[in-house]
Amino acid sequence: MGVLVMGILGATLARRPRGRCWAALSFRSRLLWRCSGLLLLPLAVLAATPARAASSLSAWRVSREGVLELRTSPGIQVRAYFEEGSGGRGPRIWFDLPGAPLRARSLWLGYNLREVRIGKPDGATTRLVLEFQPGTRLDPSRLRLVGTARDRWRMELPPAATRLGAAAGEGDFEAPVALTVLPARAPLRGWAPPPRRPLSPEGLPVVPRGRYRVVIDPGHGGPDPGAVGIEGLRETDVVLDVALQVAQLLQARGVQVLLTRTTEVDVDLPPRVALANSSGAQLFVSLHANALSLDRPDVNGIETFYFEGGAASQLAQLVQDHLLAVSPGTPDRGARPGRFFVIRRTVMPSVLAEMGFVTGEIDAPRLSDASFRGRLAQAISGAILTYLLQAS
Ligand code: ZN
Repeated sequence: MGVLVMGILGATLARRPRGRCWAALSFRSRLLWRCSGLLLLPLAVLAATPARAASSLSAWRVSREGVLELRTSPGIQVRAYFEEGSGGRGPRIWFDLPGAPLRARSLWLGYNLREVRIGKPDGATTRLVLEFQPGTRLDPSRLRLVGTARDRWRMELPPAATRLGAAAGEGDFEAPVALTVLPARAPLRGWAPPPRRPLSPEGLPVVPRGRYRVVIDPGHGGPDPGAVGIEGLRETDVVLDVALQVAQLLQARGVQVLLTRTTEVDVDLPPRVALANSSGAQLFVSLHANALSLDRPDVNGIETFYFEGGAASQLAQLVQDHLLAVSPGTPDRGARPGRFFVIRRTVMPSVLAEMGFVTGEIDAPRLSDASFRGRLAQAISGAILTYLLQAS
């Protein structure tokens, strides 16, 4: 199989003023003829594809080592762009692919690779943007997007420019090839993915915008699903969904949120703590769901742990009270001291919330209900915002 090499456009184009450097590296003229074996089909597909086709981006991921991979519909063209940072904004790399995503979205990573956004600049394009911290040095002449298969692309980012504490990504790299794949998050196994109605921060406390930063840690992930309960309800799915919604709500209130993971990846405990400790965040909340054995459905309840008294115990009590308020009938197991690694080793007020038992007859049906998880997210966000107001 040949290799299709796409260089990101060169320094002269890249240094044009912002907004004017959208000149595409079009490979129609320069590279198609060299890669015709790879791209003949794609052209046919493109020609036959209506303008409103679904996004051809089915998955993306960035490894801890800074390797970006894309999975696309087979044989499409990807256009790559680079823009220098300016005016307090870091450099950006972006890729345009045919077909529009269902929804625009952004994932805050908080590393040197600061944010990944999926946008739709028009009704027929998916734009994947990697935005780096201001001051990050990137040499566009050294960046290469390499097609490694008809539906796979790879780019090595300089390690100094990424330094990811955790892998990040969306979508499935292993599913069978389909011509158009919706750019959804990796499907959550065991229950239906939640409807993505936008959550409203209405009713949540208002804090000064841009002043606070918090770390949300969805426990487990990847090969470690955490507890598995009734009807295959997985702790990792529950906590990831709640965490993403908490992030959305807090961001709507102008709070910067760092997630220790944003997808189904496994992140060890020390990097989670390292991310938190280097983030300058005011607080850290780790989200979990409890489990006993499947023959103890009678055990239910919510509990929130802190390591040290003072600020952390206040935060724990707030989280506990808010969670109980949306979970009538489940036992209050209390806000109490615990020795979990992530709350013991983090330097800011840190708590670990067990939002219910995936093995419990009261808790499990609730945790598997998308709208209930939305209420849990509201509750946790309310507790965090209340704490921030009280602490300032
Ligand atoms: Zn857990």
